[in-house]
Formats: sequence, structure tokens, C-alpha cells
Amino acid sequence: MERIAIDMDGVIADVAEQFLRYDERDFGRRKTWEEIAGLEERKAFPHCREYVFSKGFFRTAPVMEHSQEILQQLNASYEVFIVSAATEFPQSLAEKLEWLGEHFPFIPWQQIVFCGIKTIVSADIMIDDHFKNLDHFPGATFLFSQPHNFSMNDGKHKRVYSWPEIASILL
Ligand SMILES: [Mg+2]
Repeated sequence: MERIAIDMDGVIADVAEQFLRYDERDFGRRKTWEEIAGLEERKAFPHCREYVFSKGFFRTAPVMEHSQEILQQLNASYEVFIVSAATEFPQSLAEKLEWLGEHFPFIPWQQIVFCGIKTIVSADIMIDDHFKNLDHFPGATFLFSQPHNFSMNDGKHKRVYSWPEIASILL
């Protein structure tokens, strides 16, 4: 059975939407997709570091559209691991575990990996929104399209725009 390493933020957790909500709370206006597309997160959202270290940010993040049903299907035909570089944000660890328990109850704790740098990850397929995680990965790589990577050259990675698109390739 092939093993898939699936990122959380920007892949199954819609942190761009969460940033938009926090940013609107602080600045009184919701930014448009056009305004943030192609910008690094810290450029698009000036307070983003503050947000990711704040209580509740990860716990209340919206779920990426269609990720639940498709992950459930993938889980039946692949060895699925949720891999999140989360240890930089200590308060996020419990929040992410609770979030997964609520939204992805079919993923047991044995299939959840919280780490620092993802070079430690051994799998056949990686789905991630950051080049820094995909570039060194020896297996098949899917770049989950997000505003921060929107204008970047895909390089050797397969850019995907949605979970149904991933399903059409892997299922
Ligand atoms: Mg990510």
C-alpha cells in the first residue's frame, strides 16, 4: 500500500480563510483574493505571526472544501498520514489534535505526525502547499494551490487546485 503524507495548513485546514477572517477583524475590511494572490503570508496579512501564535487560531480554522470525504476514501486505499510541521507553534499541538478529532475522526492518532522539519518524512506521495516541504521529497509531489504560492512556478511538482482534483488522480 502506498503511503501519502498530507499536510494540514493550506491543504485540509483552510488557514488562508482563517487569515482573511482575522485580518478583517483587525482592519475592518475583507481583503479580496486578487489582493493576496501571489503574496507571502506575512505580506498579505501583516499580523499573521501574531495570529498563528494566538489561542484558538488552529482550533477554529475552517475545513478545506471536500477534504473530509476524499480523505476518508483515500484512507481506504492508501496508508494515509497527516503530517504537520507544528512544533514551532506549541499551543497549536493540542488544538490541531482536537481539530483532527472533530473533523477527521476516521484518522486515528497513529496516523498523525507533528514534527519540525519535514525532511524526516518517508512516504511515496506528499501533498503540501509549501515548496520548502516538497522540494526535498523524493516521491511524487502535489502542490496544493494557495494564495501564497499562486504565482510561483510549479517546478517539478504537480499543482492541484482542489480535493476533487486530487481524487480524480489518486482514486
Ligand atoms: Mg501547509
